[in-house]
Amino acid sequence: MSIAGIVGLSDLPRICPLISRRVQTSFEEDETRVVAVGKVKFGAERPVVIAGPCAVESEEQTLQVARAVKAAGAEMLRGGAFKPRTSPHDFQGLGVEGLRILCEARRETGLPVVTEVMDPRLVETVAEYADMLQIGSRNMQNYPLLIEAGKSGKPVLLKRGMAASVCEWLGAAEYLAKEGNLNIVLCERGIKAYPSGEYSRNVLDLSVIPAVKAETFLPVIVDPSHATGVSSMVESASCASIAAGSHGLIIEVACDHPGAAKPRCDAAQAINPETLRTIVQFIDSRADIGTMRRAYAV
Ligand code: PEP
Ligand code: MN
Repeated sequence: MSIAGIVGLSDLPRICPLISRRVQTSFEEDETRVVAVGKVKFGAERPVVIAGPCAVESEEQTLQVARAVKAAGAEMLRGGAFKPRTSPHDFQGLGVEGLRILCEARRETGLPVVTEVMDPRLVETVAEYADMLQIGSRNMQNYPLLIEAGKSGKPVLLKRGMAASVCEWLGAAEYLAKEGNLNIVLCERGIKAYPSGEYSRNVLDLSVIPAVKAETFLPVIVDPSHATGVSSMVESASCASIAAGSHGLIIEVACDHPGAAKPRCDAAQAINPETLRTIVQFIDSRADIGTMRRAYAV
């Protein structure tokens, strides 16, 4: 017996034919569709590290973090100009001024920029400034937003909803693909499950990485910052994600030199540039990881 509205992995060829490995048979068994954002390539051999502040708070803060993450070896800059906050009384981001600051940081460092868009009416504006659009966990099933982001043709970082199944997540990606935009990078960012909230913010679902890779040719990365919510856990979550086959990481970083201001959002999960460097070095030391992945896939 099947329950109306309940779907499983066997329904994926119907839910998301455009991104399903089982339908799109031109891809080899372990082949990933490379998504390029400027010179950065997701799904190629080397995992991509995106790093930056949770939110763009000021030009000084953003430029300092951008320089530091570049020096630590990150290939792309993150930073929210439009922030989805639990309370409407919390800092909501600098909006278009934040986008302008991100462009300034890109001009100085050369790092391409990914930033969140929450409102379908703002897709065009955000796309004018950003190199990649981020659709956040809270908006994974905002279908009008997905359609606009698909139409923009910009590469999209599609976060997994905090309680989304693989079917729901890949169904959301299909909305982008249906608009002709296959430049999609999926991002696991932790799910709400027992014991989230006890010792970590969410539960990092590492097994979803091979599960998603079996179903789609799209690259998949991990956000260890929102997955754990605790800065001291970010390094181990990052290394574990890479070992599990993640095509990259998106990490929140704050500068911690004397006089540096405490971030206004997500301060507890921000790592310092030095820890970011350690994570990049781990990736470099595992440069054979792509080959290993193939060797295990028998
Ligand atoms: C973020 O990356 O800034 C963010 C809000 O993440 P998420 O949508 O995963 O909560
Ligand atoms: Mn954050």
